[in-house]
Amino acid sequence: MLVDQTAPGQLKPFMVRSQLLERLAARTYQRAQVHLWRQPRVMERINGPWLNIAGRWLLGFCSNDYLGLAQHQQVITALRCAADTSVGAASAHMVCGHRREHAMLEETLAEWTGRERALLFSTGYMANIGVLQTLLQRGDLCVQDKLVHACLLDGARLSGAELKRYPHLDLAAAERQLQSRPGTCALLATDAVFSMDGDMAPLSELAALCTRERATLMVDDAHGLGVLGAQGAGSVIASGLAQNDVPILMATLGKALGCCGAFVAGSGALIEGLAQFARSFLYTTAMPPALAEAARIAVTVVRREPWRREKLRSLIKRFRAGAAALGLPLLPSASAIQPLLLGSARATLAAAKALELHGLLVGAIRPPTVPTGRARLRITLSALHSETDVDRLLDALALCKAVC
Ligand SMILES: *Cc1c(COP(=O)(O)O)cnc(C)c1O
Repeated sequence: MLVDQTAPGQLKPFMVRSQLLERLAARTYQRAQVHLWRQPRVMERINGPWLNIAGRWLLGFCSNDYLGLAQHQQVITALRCAADTSVGAASAHMVCGHRREHAMLEETLAEWTGRERALLFSTGYMANIGVLQTLLQRGDLCVQDKLVHACLLDGARLSGAELKRYPHLDLAAAERQLQSRPGTCALLATDAVFSMDGDMAPLSELAALCTRERATLMVDDAHGLGVLGAQGAGSVIASGLAQNDVPILMATLGKALGCCGAFVAGSGALIEGLAQFARSFLYTTAMPPALAEAARIAVTVVRREPWRREKLRSLIKRFRAGAAALGLPLLPSASAIQPLLLGSARATLAAAKALELHGLLVGAIRPPTVPTGRARLRITLSALHSETDVDRLLDALALCKAVC
């Protein structure tokens, strides 16, 4: 039985002669039955936090463009100008795709995050897979918070190392897991700001733990870079930690920086080793040089315009105060990610639909992205929002409370 999506929201089963496709179709069909089917919507246009779907403007609280840099005029101009003579890099970095724009961005990122060197990857997914697959081998131990991003999990699986996952933020469990195999090479990987919960890992404690247990700490700062720390240099800087404490820093350019791509920053030895051995770096086309230039300009905007971070912080405060007053099921998050935990996939979908009727778009995050029974509205705030926008969201949430 194959599922044919002929019209939005319609799944039509029909038969095919391929066991593999049949099995996949059955899984897809099953997913739709339990409110877990997902469908991309076409955003016709965007304007600040507003998204146009099928001719209707909705106020969006779902993007990771926390500082509004994806729509920043200087970043757009940088991309345009750099694309004047070529679009694609036309090759991997190590062949002939490494352009002046990439080299300058790597230098900027290393200097900004206070590290010796940085290495660009085409996406964050590829960066995490590359790091874990390169550093770890069979017989090693990889310890991770249970709520880390899927690509850290996939990277550990690909590496062949033994994977242990500790309950969210449970330092004592992490310690026990690191101690479970004395003498083995161990790496502890964590998100700095958790992507679906918005809360933060205790980086200082984790760094101390890793030093004690002689494990290597890797931090994924996809949601902290640009937003936290002096000059927006990220969660590690915000925690007062340096390269020695957190030898492996990974972050993406697709969230607060508003571009696309990712990087790993650390010692010369780490970066040179990744450049030689990371398969997801070596065997793929380098990111378009114009994007690298846009990201470099985005970094300069982040550093030069602290008001974006400050505005975001004040909107977060305003939202949390309002949501608490309404008695909404807020999670303990201080970041731009403000989930409302609703539990079931069905309730989450219903709430998202109700909000949409009020002209608002928020993410309905369901399993397997989050654990079963922990479905949620993932509300994200951005410096693009105004106080009026946040109040509008709160008013709509108050009206939808019956459904939530
Ligand atoms: C988004 C994200 C990634 C993946 O980055 P992409 O560049 O989108 O592939 C990795 N880690 C975390 C924590 C993320 O939120």
